[in-house]
Amino acid sequence: MIATNQQLSQEFIDLEHQHGAHNYHPLPVVLSKGKGVYVWDVEGKKYYDFLSAYSAVNQGHCHPKIIDAMTEQAQNLTLTSRAFFNDILGKYEAFTTQFFGFDKLLPMNTGAEAVETAIKLARKWGYEKKGIAQNDAKIVVCENNFHGRTTTIVSFSNDPVASKNFGPYTPGFVKIPYNDPEALEVQIKSDPNIVGFLVEPIQGEAGVYTPSDDYMAKVQHICNQNNVLFIADEIQTGIARTGSLLAVCGNCTCEAHCERQSTYSRPDILILGKALSGGAYPVSAVLADDAVMEVIGPGQHGSTFGGNPIAGAVAIAALEVVNEEYLSQNARALGDLFRSEMNNYIKNSNIVSSIRGKGLLNAILINDTEESSTAWDICVALKNNGLLAKPTHGNIIRFAPPLVMTQEQLLECVTIIITTLKQFES
Ligand SMILES: *Cc1c(COP(=O)(O)O)cnc(C)c1O
Repeated sequence: MIATNQQLSQEFIDLEHQHGAHNYHPLPVVLSKGKGVYVWDVEGKKYYDFLSAYSAVNQGHCHPKIIDAMTEQAQNLTLTSRAFFNDILGKYEAFTTQFFGFDKLLPMNTGAEAVETAIKLARKWGYEKKGIAQNDAKIVVCENNFHGRTTTIVSFSNDPVASKNFGPYTPGFVKIPYNDPEALEVQIKSDPNIVGFLVEPIQGEAGVYTPSDDYMAKVQHICNQNNVLFIADEIQTGIARTGSLLAVCGNCTCEAHCERQSTYSRPDILILGKALSGGAYPVSAVLADDAVMEVIGPGQHGSTFGGNPIAGAVAIAALEVVNEEYLSQNARALGDLFRSEMNNYIKNSNIVSSIRGKGLLNAILINDTEESSTAWDICVALKNNGLLAKPTHGNIIRFAPPLVMTQEQLLECVTIIITTLKQFES
């Protein structure tokens, strides 16, 4: 039953507006239920979720296996802090390091915390293993990066909205163009104080900017040759989103770490978040081999909630779902289908100029100026037609449904999207 008036939604929107900080600009829809690829608003209207909480809900909303693991653990033990051991953390670390093929895991909660952890780890490694002089370590990052919202992370953002008036900024970062291995090599060769290169395998927030297929392999080679840590932020691209377990796995569709992974590319430090919990709980992690991770000793880094038993139980279940339900392979097949269906439409479209992406992380470019409201208006129309997506950076709309989608559902979504876009054709 679909209520005809939106009064209830408006009440919730007004409540947030009145009492909450205005640090987001949400689409005007108020959700109260989710299951698999669907969410429902407070009036009972059903939508396809084409954002998946920025790729946190890869396993689908309220996946029964993940929710069971969470509720069962919640009744036994929720938090010990790391002052004591608990009977889940070790199991979670053993499972996850095996799953991704690294020696060690450092548990955190949010993505930004995991990025901060990776930065600290790389700097400390630089001083203790590479012999950099105190306070001279530098990390190379890319233009248009998005790695989170802490003061240090926004210090190396070139998005003025994210960084303006939050200074003074943390020093020690150098920016180079994305998808430009030569620029990386020149930068590294010209500066012996560089300890790491922090990069997203696909720039999600920047508008699903998808680099050349061999970019990650070249990056790894340059970093390895020059004793610089290759740090992959796979918070958005990881956990099957782009059609492989990690985006750095290239075209390998294995659902867990495999030997072939090393023939594609393998970072020295891997940063995970978002779908590591299937969206059920804030869980992030940094993975690395002993030669890097061993520079962190007791008391040098930590988090009260990092490595808590609920997080561990939830993350194991969330990764098992990726495996059991072949989410990488599904993301790959449906992503190919989605882009090909959309391209058929785009060749005769005036409103959409192109689609780009990998697996089920895609974006369409709207044929209008960055400042125009067209992408926003299209998202509002999509919402009215039963599909939720959000513009990213002006005239770009990201499409990232849960990976548990079926082909039939995807084709229905393509119909909704194309029908909606047709309303905007001139
Ligand atoms: C979302 C995201 C982050 C930040 O994660 P939070 O959990 O929001 O702190 C960092 N890097 C990338 C690539 C992301 O997509």
